[in-house]
Amino acid sequence: MCRSKQRMRWDMRRCFLDSPIGSLHAVQDKLTLMIPGPTPVPESVLKAMGRHPIGHRSGEFQAVVQRTTEQLKWLHQTQGDVLVITGSGTAAMEAGIINTLSRGDKVLCGDNGKFGERWVKVARAYGLEVEVIQAEWGQPLDTEAFRLALEADSAKAIKAVILTHSETSTGVINDLETIARHVKAHGTALTIADCVTSLGATDVPMDAWGVDVVASGSQKGYMLPPGLSFVAMGERAWQAYERSDLPKFYLDLGPYRKTATKNSNPFTPAVNLYFGLEAALEMMQNEGLEAIFARHARHRSAAQAGMKAIGLPLFAAEGHGSPAITAVAPDGIDAEQLRKAVKERYDILLAGGQDHLKGKVFRIGHLGYVCDRDVLTAVSAIEATLQSLGLHSGNMGAGVAAAATALS
Ligand SMILES: *Cc1c(COP(=O)(O)O)cnc(C)c1O
Repeated sequence: MCRSKQRMRWDMRRCFLDSPIGSLHAVQDKLTLMIPGPTPVPESVLKAMGRHPIGHRSGEFQAVVQRTTEQLKWLHQTQGDVLVITGSGTAAMEAGIINTLSRGDKVLCGDNGKFGERWVKVARAYGLEVEVIQAEWGQPLDTEAFRLALEADSAKAIKAVILTHSETSTGVINDLETIARHVKAHGTALTIADCVTSLGATDVPMDAWGVDVVASGSQKGYMLPPGLSFVAMGERAWQAYERSDLPKFYLDLGPYRKTATKNSNPFTPAVNLYFGLEAALEMMQNEGLEAIFARHARHRSAAQAGMKAIGLPLFAAEGHGSPAITAVAPDGIDAEQLRKAVKERYDILLAGGQDHLKGKVFRIGHLGYVCDRDVLTAVSAIEATLQSLGLHSGNMGAGVAAAATALS
């Protein structure tokens, strides 16, 4: 019964008098992360990191840098540079902007969620002239709006188009391929993309799509703890670097590029995260890009089918759901209450809604080191929690059945 203080805070009617007390308390170290970062980390990666650090100027470490550099190019499907910064994903994005643009430059920023909003803020913080192309949260960015704005720019004032590929806050995937094509047709503007929750989840062939800058972070598709961020720079991005006059020091990519040719870094890198990076990328190479993308697509289908079968509407517009994250908008149900109950009963951590979506949306992360079992478990835990709360309106088990069908 309602023993703990935490549980006392709940609406008394919600106490499940028929539940065995033990079931409300998860056993130790059984937390399952189903948030869009940090994501679960494989044991082999944890083990690779769990060793004594070595000198970052040693030959042994240089060999690690050399291998990870090749692996990172493979992941990005690029011949260009992929540079590693000690920082979170935002550092990579900020680096992408300040290394390619100059004071007063005009940029087009896509904004259809929390992360799109963030890039508008970063660009404004550096005094760029930002034109925002907005879409409602839950909707994808309108590719035509980008085409029209770029075609109208005969003076070639637009220096970059900045957008988020997978908008984590809403679970929407934007059509980066098409927008990058429109940018290419413009001729001079760069495409700077936040691929933090798309890289390692879905196809992001940087060179083939002509994306000039790709930013990502270790705690997402890389199956690593937080702490490393990655900026991939194509040839056109380096040309822009030569002109760029925005202030930079720690995030100046010039020294990163220069030291990378000697398999080194300008500053002390997170040595142990590098050990993990090498192990994680090796796992990814063994699985193969196609298989990784197929797995994420399958998990998206299962999560979507499961939620729909339970009667919980999806937040992202139909057909635009991210392969990394499924946002759910449970009509008439407090999403935070449900999310907290799933955590308390099953020790599965789901993500909540951000900003005005708090309490209205919860999000199931299925990014990185996630298997079919994790998705089935999450769907069934959500379903069982709804039933316990007296909020399950359909056939008990319908969600699990639909998810299992989608996985098979
Ligand atoms: C997580 C995330 C980031 C980076 O956030 P940090 O907290 O700086 O690592 C950026 N963009 C998107 C879309 C993300 O999901």
